Amino acid sequence: MPVFARADGLIDIKSLSLAEIEAALTGLGSEKFRALQVYKWLWQRGVHSFDEMTNVAKAVRAVLVERYYISFLDVAAVQKSGDGTHKFLWLTEDGHRIESVMIPDDGRNTLCVSTQVGCAMACTFCLTGDLGLRRHLRPSEIANQPLQVREALDATYRITNVVMMGMGEPLHNLDNLLPALEIYLDEQGLNFSHRKITVSTVGLVPQLQRLAEALPVNVAVSLNATTEEQRRLVMPITRKYSMEALLEACRTLPLKATKRITFEYVMMAGFNDSMADAQRLVRLMRGIKSKVNLIPYNENPDRDIRRPADSVVRAFQGHLVKHGLQASVRVTRGRDISAACGQLGKTDPTKALVEGQKIAAIRIRREGEGYDTSRFVLDDIV
Ligand code: SAH
Repeated sequence: MPVFARADGLIDIKSLSLAEIEAALTGLGSEKFRALQVYKWLWQRGVHSFDEMTNVAKAVRAVLVERYYISFLDVAAVQKSGDGTHKFLWLTEDGHRIESVMIPDDGRNTLCVSTQVGCAMACTFCLTGDLGLRRHLRPSEIANQPLQVREALDATYRITNVVMMGMGEPLHNLDNLLPALEIYLDEQGLNFSHRKITVSTVGLVPQLQRLAEALPVNVAVSLNATTEEQRRLVMPITRKYSMEALLEACRTLPLKATKRITFEYVMMAGFNDSMADAQRLVRLMRGIKSKVNLIPYNENPDRDIRRPADSVVRAFQGHLVKHGLQASVRVTRGRDISAACGQLGKTDPTKALVEGQKIAAIRIRREGEGYDTSRFVLDDIV
């Protein structure tokens, strides 16, 4: 595991696994079992200082303070959509903006997590792609998102599901994603069931295989096309891993017997929404334990791409269902706050409103400025 040290030389303890904290503590002359206590303070209680770890011996705490620090993302803004969706705009220690989106739906609260600052995949229809890749997020930055959302929102918004569908391509950052997922899944850590976590990918074939061998989480693949040529037009990654190679990997992926792969299919009017596409999609799914999630394109001023009419989406879905596929249509959420699929990375923090009743006195930092502890004008966008 790479070690993440700050300019002052202190190491980010939250990017260490439990085993690494154990090794560090025994190296410092402390008993191994103390590591579990520290780990629980970090991930279950979310403490901000070593002083709060009251059942850890003072001497041990003193050594920890000298070498490590407890990292958090800065909350730059929280926006609440009219439909209850919350978008969190975070600032990393080095001033990058990333986002998480909490989507409440029928008793389920799904948190959409970012794994990179920007994205290198350059899918033509996706706005996050316009940023390019600035950098990978480290394990603590990936795991702090649910921890800090839990801290900020009350029990109404208890996170039940996590999808790695925010900014970035999770499998392009597998070396940091895997240790982060260990923290998500550990009963002593964030304590999510693997059934409730989904990793979404453009289809990096070797990394997909590595993920499936390492952890039993759910997998989603953004397919978005039904022929190689069509997919190459919008998803440049197809030049490296053909759709055929991707689907073959999906057919043979070592998944638990109960799992199915979700295929996301962004529907773009006149591009991939014909009945011929629906027929090809049925054929492509043969032999794969799949379910299809149709995502009508979220229109935006930066692209000349249209969302198909509802009737077209329904006919497409109907064809899939008639041929035995499980197919759902994703309802657009959080559009009024640019929190919908493919819109992340465009938030203007000066226009963002903080939902102040729930999140008091948030530290606000804008790029290039120091800290500003004043509060935003409290308002709701409902
Ligand atoms: N890089 C990963 C994780 C991001 S998931 C992946 O691509 O799977 C984001 C999802 O939103 C992807 O399925 C992508 O195809 C979809 N998407 C991107 N822009 C969109 C838009 N404008 N409208 C609807 N879906 C979009």
